[in-house]
Amino acid sequence: MGKFKSFKEMANAFYGPDPDEIKSYKDLPDGEEKQKYAVIEEKVNNGEWNRAGGECICLVCKKEYIRHGNLLYEFHWLTELCDGYLVKL
Ligand SMILES: [Zn+2]
Repeated sequence: MGKFKSFKEMANAFYGPDPDEIKSYKDLPDGEEKQKYAVIEEKVNNGEWNRAGGECICLVCKKEYIRHGNLLYEFHWLTELCDGYLVKL
């Protein structure tokens, strides 16, 4: 493995960190994903999210809120709807 101390370190060097090991969006490489979470953090800090029932219907895609994916990292408790609205189900 040469200069790498472990297989994990070598894998990280080639493929980037394992997404499951990223605890904060701030550890993401600079790019769209990190930008997206920076915007979300600002919204959360401003209290721009609400509690909602998972059976509510999204106005954009007409699917239940529960069928929208949860966010990741420190915002895994939030669900983002198609119009960018943040809800805690
Ligand atoms: Zn939707």
